[in-house]
Amino acid sequence: MTLSHTQLVELANRFGTPLYVYHAEKIKEQYETLQKAFENCNSRFFYACKALTNINILKYMEQLGANIDCVSIHEVNLALKAGFTPERILFTPNCVDFTEIEAGKDLGVNLNIDNISILEQFGNKYGGSYPICIRFNPHIMGGGNYKISTGHVDSKFGISIHQMRHIERIVKSTGLNVKGVHMHTGSDIKDINVFLQGLEIMFEIAEHFPDLAFVDLGSGFKVPYHEDDVSTDVAELGARVCDAFKKYEKETGRRFEVWFEPGKFLVSEAGYFIVKANVIKQTTATVFVGVNSGFNHLIRPMFYEAYHRIENISNPFGNPRIYTVVGHICETDTFAWDRKISEVREGDYLVFYNAGAYGFEMSSNFNSRLKPAEVLVKDGEALLIRKRDEFEDLLRNQIEVL
Ligand SMILES: *Cc1c(COP(=O)(O)O)cnc(C)c1O
Repeated sequence: MTLSHTQLVELANRFGTPLYVYHAEKIKEQYETLQKAFENCNSRFFYACKALTNINILKYMEQLGANIDCVSIHEVNLALKAGFTPERILFTPNCVDFTEIEAGKDLGVNLNIDNISILEQFGNKYGGSYPICIRFNPHIMGGGNYKISTGHVDSKFGISIHQMRHIERIVKSTGLNVKGVHMHTGSDIKDINVFLQGLEIMFEIAEHFPDLAFVDLGSGFKVPYHEDDVSTDVAELGARVCDAFKKYEKETGRRFEVWFEPGKFLVSEAGYFIVKANVIKQTTATVFVGVNSGFNHLIRPMFYEAYHRIENISNPFGNPRIYTVVGHICETDTFAWDRKISEVREGDYLVFYNAGAYGFEMSSNFNSRLKPAEVLVKDGEALLIRKRDEFEDLLRNQIEVL
């Protein structure tokens, strides 16, 4: 399910560029794909909203029936504003101070704790009066094995599975009520065995917590960025994960909900970023297309060396040529090297695909450039959901004292 070149050109003409466009029905399709894949488990999906937090996207997720995963107290408040009840909110912060955890507790959301020190403070203060989830670092390595790295901390996230004895001591002495265990290995995982290995570790961890109600397997679902990329086979993953839970239930008599926190999977492909070719610049070795945007609007290529498919929607049938697509920021600002694109003329619109996740969300006003507008296409209608920055926005919150 995609928006056509013609539709995108119309939106660019109507709302101007640079422009982020999100396709509601594509988000719905992705959500339903997940639901269907895990229909044989007791599953719940929490949209990892840091991927895209426009309030309309949050409301749409709420209407779809999704739950939501938040990494800051402000995301929690946005989620509440979008209509999520606290029970549907999971708060998974990292390296926040204790008062932010307490603020989440006061709002009644599900708490995911990923630090021994916080766990201890929480237990000392609240005992078992408020259920919690513990985030583990399972030290999983892709490729069929997990690596146990004693004494070497390789990630700031989660509590190492090797600290289990310490956790148990805290739980025992404070009476903490551990309702969930969580892992999120983070990467674009296309090998579903990585999830299944993680699940085996989670089942081992579960033995230490008699009151467990859910196992949260995080995210890491891969979406195709390259033309020839594969995405995580969620249907296969769903079947295998549900089987594993059934088997576990048969062996132990214990039945858990399975939780996931997809961000990218739900919104990446639903997003389009449209820019205009300002100039064509031929140097001795390279033909540059300089567009009216930069890493201040879409940082993934410069930040993660991410690949985004680019098409010339103004001249889709032009002769393909090789271009290096750059932004207009005064800093190395390359979107794509040596990319085959239909001939680009000055003034043409280019589209970046898969721009829904970590696109607008990571934008800035660097170079005193204005942030783009955002449009939601829903039921065939184009709705402006954020107006383009104006000059005054650059001065907002500044205090002129001179
Ligand atoms: C970012 C994040 C996710 C989402 O990751 P995606 O790759 O966007 O699916 C899920 N869970 C947690 C805890 C996260 O921090």
